[in-house]
Amino acid sequence: HTVFIWFRQDLRITDNQALTAAVKMARQQQLRLKAVYIATPEQWQQHDVGLKQLDFIQRHLRCLQQALAALGIELSLWHCDTFADVLPLWQQQVAQHKAVAIFAGAEPEINEQQRDQALLDAGLPLNLTNEHCILAPGTVRNQSGEMYRVFTPFFKRWRELAAAKAFVPLPPPAPLASAVSITAPITLPVATGNSEHWRAGEGEAKQRLQQFVRQAAAEYAEQRDFPALDGTSSLSPYLALGVISPRQCLAALLAQFPDAIVDDTSPARTWLAELVWREFYRHLLVAFPHLCMGASFNPLGGQIHWRQADDDFAAWCEGRTGYPIVDAAMRQLNQIGWMHNRLRMIVASFLTKHLLIDWRHGERWFRRQLLDGDLAANNGGWQWSAGTGCDAQPYFRIFNPMTQSEKFDPDASFIRQYVPEVADWSLKQIHHPHNRSAAELFAVSDYPLPIVEHSAARARALDRLSVLKKAN
Ligand code: FAD
Repeated sequence: HTVFIWFRQDLRITDNQALTAAVKMARQQQLRLKAVYIATPEQWQQHDVGLKQLDFIQRHLRCLQQALAALGIELSLWHCDTFADVLPLWQQQVAQHKAVAIFAGAEPEINEQQRDQALLDAGLPLNLTNEHCILAPGTVRNQSGEMYRVFTPFFKRWRELAAAKAFVPLPPPAPLASAVSITAPITLPVATGNSEHWRAGEGEAKQRLQQFVRQAAAEYAEQRDFPALDGTSSLSPYLALGVISPRQCLAALLAQFPDAIVDDTSPARTWLAELVWREFYRHLLVAFPHLCMGASFNPLGGQIHWRQADDDFAAWCEGRTGYPIVDAAMRQLNQIGWMHNRLRMIVASFLTKHLLIDWRHGERWFRRQLLDGDLAANNGGWQWSAGTGCDAQPYFRIFNPMTQSEKFDPDASFIRQYVPEVADWSLKQIHHPHNRSAAELFAVSDYPLPIVEHSAARARALDRLSVLKKAN
């Protein structure tokens, strides 16, 4: 008889309740333990999973394969095209290996939930644990028993519930058997991009976490908005794949700042709020599954008349809008598969408001480029920026790219790093690209003029997006 541990978005051996439970059962009942990961290339394509993220997944799987081998557990790679093929595969494997249990971490997205439900409906012994949130979706509700639609009261309730709990991450399980040797490293049956900018493995994620809570968490509130600084944790690529758990993040924060949950003035409060924003969006996805299917949270969002502007969209994607702050941000995304949060807000506002292009196009481009691409946070961030989301930025708040540039990259050091064409420009020219001198406009310049003029674009956005007014 066999017990399975099925890895999905929880590619770690530390603080993994599913793995711990599987190892315990195997040990107590003297069962064989098998670990599996299922590649679903067609499903990944349908979900716009990016090539860089696939490379990152593959590299983490190789680390996981080694970590499991040291515990005496072999990790196998199975292959299905879509989630629909997962059920018959499991039926066959459960029968073949006389499986008594399959342990796996629950996932919040609708297709993933349906895939798991199909196994349960077919009577397969699937046991789901909550790996991806600190407090599981559905457990943070208002007095009427409903999911919150505004972050601040959600955060308050979340803190009340969390304050009563102890967060002690589970250690990696003790070896089950002598180490197994690896015959071939895991290789996904798909083309992959390049994620080399980011080191793979749990060790790297743990080190980043420790360094952040010890050295940067206290200054996070002051530094987090400046893309030229290392003011944020850069843990999102690891959290998105479950290489580190949000519980580990919270436990590390509490070890350094024991009052972070209960004390409103704790220096760690701002970072805690970001971890809880992550949870808020995941809880929303479970409570409102239509968010997984491209729908606006605010039904009035369906009435917005977006522009069809392929050239403008291409210029945005490729970082040649003529606004150095926007272009530097997009080039950062395209080059390293990650973008600073302040910049995500700037470029998302620019696409949906200055260019009046449907947020779904931006969401898809982000998903294909990001290493931390994750439906809940990405959809949440895009709908927040477009003004169509839950507890979103009001439609009439339109980021001024010139002011944002001046405020958050005052010496233009971030911009100069990613947009070398403007490296010699004065600060005034970089932050106010409309004001390039006449001499310069006539000179040969590789860098485009702004594709849209700020005040006219602002007026157009206010007009078209005013269909959202009723809800604000
Ligand atoms: P830190 O500032 O150190 O925050 C710690 C962790 O909290 C992050 O790693 C992340 O897991 C979580 N977090 C922080 N801010 C947010 C937020 N606003 N919403 C949800 N979770 C948050 N984040 C993703 O993980 N995946 C995405 O696909 C994604 N798409 C986004 C799209 C847009 C348009 C916007 C505006 C934001 C998006 N974010 C996304 C949220 C945020 O930009 C990133 O999580 C953050 O920049 C990651 O950097 P960090 O790890 O240094 O974050």
